[in-house]
Amino acid sequence: MTSSTSFTILGLTPSASPSDVKLAWRKLSTLYHPDKPGGDPVKFDSVQKAYELAMNHAKVCKVCKGTRTVKFTQGFYSINRRCTSCK
Ligand SMILES: [Zn+2]
Repeated sequence: MTSSTSFTILGLTPSASPSDVKLAWRKLSTLYHPDKPGGDPVKFDSVQKAYELAMNHAKVCKVCKGTRTVKFTQGFYSINRRCTSCK
């Protein structure tokens, strides 16, 4: 599964925001949940995988496409992360 197919599975375009991804994921997860009548475990599974991939993509900054890195400090650790939003 590529990141662009993951958006297609969720019924979104690759320019979707993380909140769009979350909303589509919640809707489809409820629809395909195996415990529900008419649920589909295979589709449910691919929605979960698509969500993870699409979320990783959606979190990346749309301005610099994640080419810029930002220093992220947590406790004693400091790591360089891909940019999530240019300010
Ligand atoms: Zn950026």
